Order: sequence, then structure tokens, then C-alpha cells
Amino acid sequence: MTAPDHRVPFANAEVVPEAQEAALRVLRSGWITMGPETQAFERELASYLGARHVIAVSSGTAALDLALRALRLPPGAPVLTPSLTFCGAVAPILHAGLRPVLVDIDPEMLLPTADCVAVAARRAGRPAAMIVQHMAGYPADVAELAEAAGLARSAVIEDAAHGLAAEDRGVRVGTASHAACFSFYATKNLPIGEGGAVATCDDGLADYLRSARLHGLSKDAWRRYLPGGSWRYDVAEPGIKANITDIQAAIGRAQLNRLSPWQARREHLAARYDAALAGVPGLALPRRPPYGRHAWHLYQVRVGRGYGLHRDLLIEALRARGIDTSVHFIPVHQLSGFRAALGPEECRSVPVTDQVAEEVLSLPMYPALADSDVDRVADALLAHADGTAAA
Ligand SMILES: *Cc1c(COP(=O)(O)O)cnc(C)c1O
Repeated sequence: MTAPDHRVPFANAEVVPEAQEAALRVLRSGWITMGPETQAFERELASYLGARHVIAVSSGTAALDLALRALRLPPGAPVLTPSLTFCGAVAPILHAGLRPVLVDIDPEMLLPTADCVAVAARRAGRPAAMIVQHMAGYPADVAELAEAAGLARSAVIEDAAHGLAAEDRGVRVGTASHAACFSFYATKNLPIGEGGAVATCDDGLADYLRSARLHGLSKDAWRRYLPGGSWRYDVAEPGIKANITDIQAAIGRAQLNRLSPWQARREHLAARYDAALAGVPGLALPRRPPYGRHAWHLYQVRVGRGYGLHRDLLIEALRARGIDTSVHFIPVHQLSGFRAALGPEECRSVPVTDQVAEEVLSLPMYPALADSDVDRVADALLAHADGTAAA
């Protein structure tokens, strides 16, 4: 086949002109690290989410790290987590000296069900905490999973890196647990480049996070170099260095104003994929939540045995046609460092995850993706469905 004249990239980080201007405004202002823009971003995101507090940090991984530290669990305490997740969501469990206990998933939803959680909770003995991940933007039922784990909501942390703008029964993801952790990494639904945030309704946790993200400095010490700021501070408990900057916060504020139209575009693209791919043999399309709203961070299909090519060969065939895709995720227990930390028995405990990990494929999905690009991806998937098309 002829060389494609234009590629369909897997991701595209759109930074709107207002965000570019906002970043310049901060750069020229004389105050470029965490400060007033950060406070405004936190207020605006809290209002969007309906959360009492938002604490902005340097990354989604840092958000999870801080939220886990805040639980002050004893060393070795078991923490439930899916394995089909990003390594950055499991490393903080190890860093906190805790023990990840893997939860298997439902092959259709790609999320743990209450039964999966109950099985893992029994294996863990008595889990101390749980991380609930809103895979691809599908809103997990936090209350139901917490009950299945026998955990209070105060022991549940949401990995909402994919969950921004998802809704569960009319309520935006971000308030159902002790701490909902968001990411503003370049490919996420609200791209800043780097950045993260914790949403919480717990005043004590919010105080802890505001201090712990900046060395553990006492309240308002970030102001110490601002006009009128005091040089005095205390550190009651040494923290980490994981603050966001005002440059990022200013970008985030402007991007947040675009989130609703971006989400509408993602919904449109998902519906277009659904219609174009319905009935392709061997291809399972993403589930929609029976109540609520998918955030469509990813459009993930499963390439099953009935499809003409194995997933890995399909990735190569699509690449040859100028279409880039990705895989979310390589389960953490298949990564060598985690495999060693988890041990062989734990790694054998999630057979559905192992099977699904061979099949998942994420197609391009971002607001700037053209309808014609969706059609091109769908045509390529149809062409290879019976295994006879040339790559
Ligand atoms: C992106 C991501 C993270 C980590 O976010 P960073 O901001 O990159 O640190 C955590 N969990 C999931 C599921 C993610 O996709």
C-alpha cells in the first residue's frame, strides 16, 4: 500500500491561546512558582468538581504519594490496587512501605467489580486501604467497592488520572473518597504538561497536603518571599517537594475553561467510533456506564481471538498505515521491578488481567482528532478484521 500522506498520532496536547498568554503573563509577573495563580486554580477546580478542597501538586503520582502518606498506615499494611494501571499509581504504595495486593478486573469493563475486590480483600487478610482507578474515564462505583473491601471511605483513595469530567449518577468524580488524585500530564483530559491535584472534603487532610507538598512548611510559608511575607516558618513534620508552579496553574485555569467543549468533542468521537466499529468480528468496544458519564480519556477496544490479527500485529499494521495506537496498560505485575517486589504468588492472582492485557488497544482520542481520522482508523480496523488485508 502507498505511504500515508498524513499520520494520525496517538495523542495531541492542545494548549489553547489563552493558556499560552496566561503562562507569559505569569513569566513576566516576577512571581513564577506556587502562589496566587495556584490558589485561584485550586478554587476553580474545586468548584468544577464540587469538592471542598483542591490541593495542586507537581504530578498525579505525587498526589497519590501524598494521599497515601496521609493515611499513616503501619509498615507492610496491605493496600488493594488493580494491576491493570499505570506503574506510577503502584510505586507510591511501595514507597510508603506498604504492600500492594492486586485486584483482578472484569474483562468487559476493565475495572475491578465488587466480587474482584472481595476476593482480593480475603487474600489480603484485612486490607488497610484501597486505590480505585477510573480506567479510561469509566466512573467506578467507589461506595460499592469500598463496601466490598470492608473499608470506610476514609481509607479509599481514587486514582482519578482518567476520571476528570466523569460522572457517577450525576456527581462528578472527585468527591466519593477520602482523596481523589488527578493528573494534568500532557496526554490527560486537562493537559498542562505536568501537574496533579488532590480533591478532598476533609479539612484535616487538606491542611496536611498543603504543608506536606512543600517540605512540610507551616501554613502560608509559601508567601515568605512575597511582599509583606514573613521569613518565619516551622516544619512540624518533614514533607516532600511536590508543589505545582504558578506557570502551570495559569495554564490549567485557562485550559479548565475549555474542558466542557473538549468533553463534548470526546463524547462525539466515542459515538463515531462506536457506530463505525459496531459488528467488527472479534473487536469488543468499550462499555458505557449504565448510570453516569464516561470521561473518554481513552477509547479502548479489545482485540479478541475472533479478530484477524493478534493485537501486537494489528498495532504494527496500523502503524504502517500511519495510525498510532497505544496499550493501557502493561499490568504492573508484568514489569520486572514490580514482579520482584510482589513475589510470584501475588503475580499469579490476577488471571483475567493477564488475558485482557494481551487484547487491549487504545485508539487515538483527543479533541483535535478529526471525524475523518476516526473514519480512517475504523476503516483500517475493518480491513484487517478477516486477517487477509496486507499490512
Ligand atoms: C497518568 C497516570 C498517573 C500518573 O500521573 P502523572 O501526572 O503522570 O504522575 C497515575 N495513574 C494513571 C492511571 C495514569 O494514567
